[in-house]
Amino acid sequence: KAFSDFNLNQDLLSAIDAFGFDKPTPIQAQVIPEILKGQDIIGCAQTGTGKTAAFLIPLVNKLLEKESSKVRCVILSPTRELAQQIEQNLIGFIYGTHVSCQAVYGGNEGAEFSQQKASIQNGVDIIVATPGRLKSHISLGYADFSELDFFILDEADRMLDMGFIEDIKLLNSKLPEKKQTLMFSATMAPNIRKLAEKILHNPTQINL
Ligand code: AMP
Repeated sequence: KAFSDFNLNQDLLSAIDAFGFDKPTPIQAQVIPEILKGQDIIGCAQTGTGKTAAFLIPLVNKLLEKESSKVRCVILSPTRELAQQIEQNLIGFIYGTHVSCQAVYGGNEGAEFSQQKASIQNGVDIIVATPGRLKSHISLGYADFSELDFFILDEADRMLDMGFIEDIKLLNSKLPEKKQTLMFSATMAPNIRKLAEKILHNPTQINL
């Protein structure tokens, strides 16, 4: 398998090339076609397997198909460090395209909060967030998720361990019913299965 077998956008293929990725990792080979088809996914994968690019590549490909003035995707991650990693990868994949992203996590000064608020109000395409900080923005009332198409939960098991379950359910309730949801977790513990049953629709399960 090669990345060129997935019928991806040319700009995106160049970006993948610029990362120096030669060929898809096993999880990428399994996950990319399923996401491109529009499937919900529950993926059991550890870090180091290439799971970040496994969801970012098909996501960016889909976002390139249409321009929008509203938020199209929310990616949730348990920690600021992981959100930063996702953001760094994303910046590479969207380079030179119309797709935009904004990291939304806590621990910074007011200026950062205002910058996040402005991006959300302006309808940035992709928000990469930690649950607590995103909840703060949502409670202030300016987040418009009416045209959101994608909801991605990375390291869902860690988010549950950190006590974010209610924040995740609250956020999910603010998103349109009809959307594509992707959930990744290192384990398939009962609490993960329960969350998956609640928020995913007829998901494809991928285990590595
Ligand atoms: P992750 O599992 O998402 O944390 O990715 C682990 C590392 O693998 C990161 O440094 C990625 O940049 C790298 N990586 C992801 N996909 C590929 C690929 N297809 N070929 C080579 N390296 C990759």
